[in-house]
Amino acid sequence: MDPEEYRRAAYASVDYIVDYYKTITERQVVSDVEPGYLRQLLPSEMPQEPESWDDIHKDFDSHIVPGLTHWQSPNFLAFFPANVSFPSILGELYSAAFSAPAFNWICSPAVTELETIVLDWLAKQMGLPSEFLSDTEGGGVIQGSASEAVVTTMVAARDRYLRDAIASKYSTEEEKDAAIAAARGKLVAFASDQTHSSTQKAALIAGVRFIAIKTYAEDDYALTGAALTKAFKEAEDKGLLPFFLTASLGTTAICAIDKFVEIGEATKDYPHAWKHIDAAYSGAALICPEFQHYLAGVEYFDSFDMNMHKWLLVNFDASCLYVRKRKYLIDALSITPSYLRNEASDSGLVIDYRDWQIPLGRRFRSLKIWFVMRTYGAKGMQEHVRKTLGIGVHFTKLIQAHPDVFSIATPPRFGLTVFQVVPSKPEETANDVTKKVANRISNEKVIFLTASTVDGKECIRVVTGSPWATDKSMTEAFEYILTVSEEERQT
Ligand code: PLP
Repeated sequence: MDPEEYRRAAYASVDYIVDYYKTITERQVVSDVEPGYLRQLLPSEMPQEPESWDDIHKDFDSHIVPGLTHWQSPNFLAFFPANVSFPSILGELYSAAFSAPAFNWICSPAVTELETIVLDWLAKQMGLPSEFLSDTEGGGVIQGSASEAVVTTMVAARDRYLRDAIASKYSTEEEKDAAIAAARGKLVAFASDQTHSSTQKAALIAGVRFIAIKTYAEDDYALTGAALTKAFKEAEDKGLLPFFLTASLGTTAICAIDKFVEIGEATKDYPHAWKHIDAAYSGAALICPEFQHYLAGVEYFDSFDMNMHKWLLVNFDASCLYVRKRKYLIDALSITPSYLRNEASDSGLVIDYRDWQIPLGRRFRSLKIWFVMRTYGAKGMQEHVRKTLGIGVHFTKLIQAHPDVFSIATPPRFGLTVFQVVPSKPEETANDVTKKVANRISNEKVIFLTASTVDGKECIRVVTGSPWATDKSMTEAFEYILTVSEEERQT
């Protein structure tokens, strides 16, 4: 493809994308294709001869697009949203054009410097403590995902614990090595039973044990200080070493919020245990001052992560990880072979983000964040959060207005409503009828939502973070859910 062919194809692609968004509300949110459909449509070997863009695009339109789930549709009410906005798409386009796996500052100084600036802007806008800003000992770094962020922090936590809590007690290198080797097998990471599975996966990757602490309905499924103290003590009685904890600001299934202040107090006697906040979805709300009270207790924590690629108008991937002391990431992750050395890095005046993450190369992700921040401004981004929250409240009220058909299962929060269908027949339980309703909705594909089990209760969860959702689209979704529920309660 030469530059002029690219120009023609790119203009046409932009037209295609604009038309796609103009028709997004009319598209069936979930695809009808059967598993393996694409293998039937594409050749079994890669093309040997070059093909024209027109032919490629024709197949894209007829074979690929029908197999897409439309995450931007107002009828996408599942998981958490994965917002996209036009300035963010433009950021991706330029990022691809100037492709630079900018692992060191010198690999493309603007890539590093813009990242530092936009992450400082975001931290200030969210009201994070100044210790998380880059002009202190801390700072932010864009990771590919919240899962990557928790693995990265867990590796730093493991390194810090083994050095500061274990090796520091010994004087010779031999003794230190032996003590570290013995302690490694006893390390244990904690989270609540509501925490996203990425913490358990991180423990798997880091080769440490994982303990999920049970939460209870009377605490709104939050991890409490008392439960944490008990869990740490029980682990220590078994000879284990608590070295890491994930606390959540908005869990996946129900948006539970752990008790940060209590957790901070409970872990005061564990100065070497790393405390991480997973605010992957709900943390977006912090850009509005009225939600920043949720940060109370953050001063006890070592790291904080929020995905702009969920609810903050920046397309996947843009997980914003902040650490109180960047030294711990660098201590754990920095290896500098001769071919990565350069004057700028050696001077100590620049950031090399490769030392703050697992991969070496990294994408120019800050560009899309910068474009979004400038196009919307903080005011526009706040308006998006408040608008989608308002739509969530509207949906919750519709559910609450029909207590004969629905019961709210957990406190509605951050645009997420979790509910059960009330059975109408004595032989049927709420779990049975809720499952029937969820299955039928899943098969009919009018809307896309997720079912989840909370403390043994089968629930339906509906979340409203799409920029394309409106009160009207949510009313229509509700009326459909109501019709299906009333029918299923009778059959
Ligand atoms: N944490 C929470 C609360 C989540 O809801 C999710 C995903 O939905 C994650 C972490 C993992 O996010 P990622 O896909 O960025 O790894």
